[in-house]
Amino acid sequence: MGTHLREDYGALAFFKAQKHAFADTLKRGAARESLVDALLGQAYDSFERNVEIQGDGLPPLACHKGCATCCTLRVTATAPEVLMIGRYIRWSAGALREMEIDLVERIYSADVKTRGLDEGDRVKLRLRCPYIHKGNCLIYQVRPLACRGHASYDVRTCVEAAGGRIAEVPYSLPHMTVRSLVQNAMQAALRDAGLAFGLYELNHAVVLELQDGQACAGWLAGADIFASARVHEVSDEEMARTYDSLNAL
Ligand code: SF4
Repeated sequence: MGTHLREDYGALAFFKAQKHAFADTLKRGAARESLVDALLGQAYDSFERNVEIQGDGLPPLACHKGCATCCTLRVTATAPEVLMIGRYIRWSAGALREMEIDLVERIYSADVKTRGLDEGDRVKLRLRCPYIHKGNCLIYQVRPLACRGHASYDVRTCVEAAGGRIAEVPYSLPHMTVRSLVQNAMQAALRDAGLAFGLYELNHAVVLELQDGQACAGWLAGADIFASARVHEVSDEEMARTYDSLNAL
């Protein structure tokens, strides 16, 4: 997928090219568990490359390894991202045991405290993400687009915002824009392929994934396996209308 978001290749054209590329991947990998890897490899690679292009000439980011200041906010993820995180947690079980980290317990405990809370409630709660360990993200390699798209130019304002004292943080526009375009292109392609394409609250959705030994097979068969974890700021119907109107342009 060689499409780049540049001034001469506008947001709509970029979205359409991304969606087309995701649709190709969906056609090639239909009904196979490796589809999750193919979709996310494409999404994360496209995100990183285009953020690099867009960020050229802009000030350096304040984000760095070991800073988890913003990791108290609600995280949303698509179904492939949740499935990948569930698989990564199972794959990391031995390493986590050696580090004496009961990650599954942490996720269940976080879910009990956060289930049903909206974004504003989560800011007030200031509960650290269950994946933080010594300031680092335990699932960094597979963190969702929502986390990748959250990058700041000023750590002091991040600290103030995490403490609920200010609302505005100078977030990186390239990260936010590219995340939104890539994520929505993948969601639109999932919808066209008849797969659940919504966004889910991460703690709740990962609990559902860990409880369901057949989660990936269910999703590939078209079931909305994480339905009870859906975030409802934008309804399916509204998203579908938006994707249809973009298709028509
Ligand atoms: S998943 Fe990782 S990057 Fe995302 S909020 Fe949690 S600790 Fe932070």
